[in-house]
Amino acid sequence: MHELSYATFMLNTILDTVKNQNLKNVKRVSKIKLEIGELTFINVEQLKFAFEVISKSTICEGAEIEVEIIKPYITCNNCGYRGELDSVDDLIISCPKCGNLSLKIDGGKEFNIKNITVEFEEE
Ligand SMILES: [Zn+2]
Repeated sequence: MHELSYATFMLNTILDTVKNQNLKNVKRVSKIKLEIGELTFINVEQLKFAFEVISKSTICEGAEIEVEIIKPYITCNNCGYRGELDSVDDLIISCPKCGNLSLKIDGGKEFNIKNITVEFEEE
C-alpha cells in the first residue's frame, strides 16, 4: 500500500518542519492542507487512515487533513495539445484530441504539503 509511504513522508516532513523552525510550545498540529496530483493514484481515504495510525502520540495526532486534487496537465508530442485531462480511469493516458500516447506530463504527480495549522500551549 503506497499510501503508507506517503503518510510516513508527510509525518516526517511536518515533524521536521516544526523542529527546524524552532517553534516553541507547540501543542498540536490541528490541520494539514495537501495538494495531490491525480496521477499519484493515491487513495485519499487510505492516506488519511494511514496517517491517523502512524501519527498516534505525536503532535499530529487527530489533525484534520484537507486535500486538493490536481488534475493531470499534459502536452501532446504529436498534435501539440496542451491542457488538463478530465478523467484518469486507468494507467494508460492518451491525448484527448488525437489519441496519441506519447505525452509530456507537466502536472498531476504532485504531492505537496501546502500548509499546516499549529496550536500552541497557553503559557
Ligand atoms: Zn494529441
